[in-house]
Amino acid sequence: MHWADVVAEKLMQRGDEHVLATAITPSGPIHVGNLREVMTTEAIYRALKDRGAKAKLIFIADTFDPLRKVYPFLDKSYEKYVGMPLSSIPCPCGEHENYAEHFLQPFIEAMDELGIKPEIYKDHELYAQGFYKNAIKTALDNADKIRNILNEISGRNLPEGWMPFNVLCENCGRLTGEIKEYEYPSIKYECKCGWKNSVNINECMGKMPWRVEWPARWSLFGVTFEAFGKDHASPGGSWDTGKVIAKEVFNYEPPMPFVYEFIHLKGRGAMHGSTGLAIAASEVVKMVPAEVLRFLFMKYEPSRHIEFDASFGLLDLVDEYDEYERVYFGMQEARAGMKDVRRVYELSQPYGTKAKMPLQIPYRHLAVVAQIAKNFDEVIEIIQRRTELQKFDEERLRERYEKIKYWLKNYAPDAIKFEVLEKFEGEMDKRSIEFLERLKNKLETIEWDAEKIHSAIHETIKEYGISAKEGFEAIYKIIIGKKRGPRAGYFLQSLGKEFVLSRIHEVIQK
Ligand SMILES: [Zn+2]
Ligand SMILES: [Zn+2]
Repeated sequence: MHWADVVAEKLMQRGDEHVLATAITPSGPIHVGNLREVMTTEAIYRALKDRGAKAKLIFIADTFDPLRKVYPFLDKSYEKYVGMPLSSIPCPCGEHENYAEHFLQPFIEAMDELGIKPEIYKDHELYAQGFYKNAIKTALDNADKIRNILNEISGRNLPEGWMPFNVLCENCGRLTGEIKEYEYPSIKYECKCGWKNSVNINECMGKMPWRVEWPARWSLFGVTFEAFGKDHASPGGSWDTGKVIAKEVFNYEPPMPFVYEFIHLKGRGAMHGSTGLAIAASEVVKMVPAEVLRFLFMKYEPSRHIEFDASFGLLDLVDEYDEYERVYFGMQEARAGMKDVRRVYELSQPYGTKAKMPLQIPYRHLAVVAQIAKNFDEVIEIIQRRTELQKFDEERLRERYEKIKYWLKNYAPDAIKFEVLEKFEGEMDKRSIEFLERLKNKLETIEWDAEKIHSAIHETIKEYGISAKEGFEAIYKIIIGKKRGPRAGYFLQSLGKEFVLSRIHEVIQK
């Protein structure tokens, strides 16, 4: 059984009404590692619905978290905002409502493209609407209990009089107001900036610390499932304290926990938004087809770490997806090591499974065609020389074309990139010219097919007695001015017979 179904079955033992929660702090670019949380949870959400459960998927953006420091990607001028809620800091580009939105918006768009449509909540709005009002009172009334739980389980040393609420200081706008006296509903607070005031807790803004807010949310939203990264799951971490606070303070049975592994960027280690060791999720959806990106997360158990390789690895990933697709549509037998093919394929579709198999153009072929063609119409023209294209295939082809263009421009290794020369202007030695002449004679007689072109090249190399290296170099040199290039058969086929023969003709005529 697929892992999402295993979890769904387990959840069904708890009941058939579920709220699945996801949350992300938009303090920096929301990276592809964060996608794992929403994608894992959404797959379980789908599996629950498939079982007839009533399920809700929620996404809480931690927009009211304070800015912790000036991250490397920020301008020094952000120093003055440290400690202020993300929702009240100006956006770095000037085009978004605030700092949090700047990072949140592209992520929400990426989720949408991936077919993930949760109910979205923004934490600063929840606070402003009084959503947490009762939970805040409960937390303050139980301050000693919470302090003891945190001290005991997490090994902290919170002082007597510590209160589980930070006031948003009316003077400096930071979440650094400490409650000094509490007698419901009035509080006296003092801020690090020196400001002091007495206010009504129901009228003042402020925030519960994460370790208290998390269990409060479970009880208020009725959360029954939440996936989180290893950082929260460490001994004495926020899950350990959260589940006890949920039961003992908020009188709520904690959700079923589910720990997922981080994503590593190949060759660079675990992704963290704050260190720049990451590719934003919104970037990844620009270069990986949506269903292929989902596939990456559906195929592996969430407890396994994934290496995301934005270089050559991306081509292999798309090939692998295409293979699952062929098996799903019965065009190929599953090979050893392929697991839950049908379910993985289904769950990889952002917006439902197609009735028939779309035309497959391997991504590495498309990478070649996209560099030969000047625009999408030319791509279609090249592909139509060999294959008939349906309207339905054209849509997928267009998506893949646009994404591969973005990849070629921004992430592809140089070895894969080339530009077809408008005209060959270099020098060729006599041997190479003779070889090309013979090759031309052979190519003129064959059917313009990758396999046949490939054989013709090898036969000519043999017959003429030139080394394979020299032979191929001559071909690449006159077309792209480089010693190496894409696999010659498919490459020449895509360039077209007329182009290839006339290029060779120009060179031998010189
Ligand atoms: Zn912005
Ligand atoms: Zn202050």
